[in-house]
Amino acid sequence: MCYFHLKQAVKRKFAELSVDKKDRTDILIHIDKMRGMVTSKQLDQYWNLFSKHYSKSSSFIEYFKKQWLSEDSKTFRWHYFNCEPNVFMTNNICESLNSSIKRDWTNREKQPLHLFLKYLRDVFFDVVLAKVELKTTVEYPGDLKQRAAILSQKALFIFRNDRYYIEEKGTKKLTFAAIDKFMGATYTTLKEFKEGIEQICTLTWDQRKKIANCFCRSGFTYGVCVHKLALEMFLGSLFKPVSLVKTQRRGRKKKVSKALVRDEDGIFEEPPKKQTKRS
Ligand SMILES: [Zn+2]
Repeated sequence: MCYFHLKQAVKRKFAELSVDKKDRTDILIHIDKMRGMVTSKQLDQYWNLFSKHYSKSSSFIEYFKKQWLSEDSKTFRWHYFNCEPNVFMTNNICESLNSSIKRDWTNREKQPLHLFLKYLRDVFFDVVLAKVELKTTVEYPGDLKQRAAILSQKALFIFRNDRYYIEEKGTKKLTFAAIDKFMGATYTTLKEFKEGIEQICTLTWDQRKKIANCFCRSGFTYGVCVHKLALEMFLGSLFKPVSLVKTQRRGRKKKVSKALVRDEDGIFEEPPKKQTKRS
């Protein structure tokens, strides 16, 4: 189930089901929150509070329930708790490959299978001949690495019931009581629930593949977030955090000496030695 398409479909429905314009952004944020739900009980609670809060947009609530939450629908598996860990929640990558195949190879026409397979082979040969390097590793921005290194050194992760938990900002250690409240979903208003969720990040850890997964916003949108990186560092699978922190050199800075200079004949020679003041 591609989460990107869910959001797109919902946005289209906003106008059709006349959802109040000023509610739209908030509704999308709440959907993000529902996406990160750790248990179905938690989702039920959130949905109850959500549907009560937006009861004036009853046709939208009905649509959403029928299309995205009902088990009769083919598209109800988009929450954290009923998705395989470490599975991409988007098929955008295939979409772009698909569009370039259509544009550059098949002229947007349907081809017989044997021809299509031939094109496919050519596509990949093209890639090989052009020596385009296919990306196999994720590159993280430097400042993200540094922030993650600091987080991992603080070791604020709590492991409980095969998940890791960390406070969103990574400034203080979570309490077991806070995790219990979060997992038990004992919130009475939508606002309280949303704010409670925003304080805690849930992470999965695949011991075999050495991959962490975070369900904060950037975690599931880009596959990269400071929590995921910090947990991977913390568990020692990716980088040594120590090497990432800039070390300051002691003592006076070394003087920069001139490189070779070009004389009138165009021949390189060493620069003339400067006379020191004393001599
Ligand atoms: Zn995260």
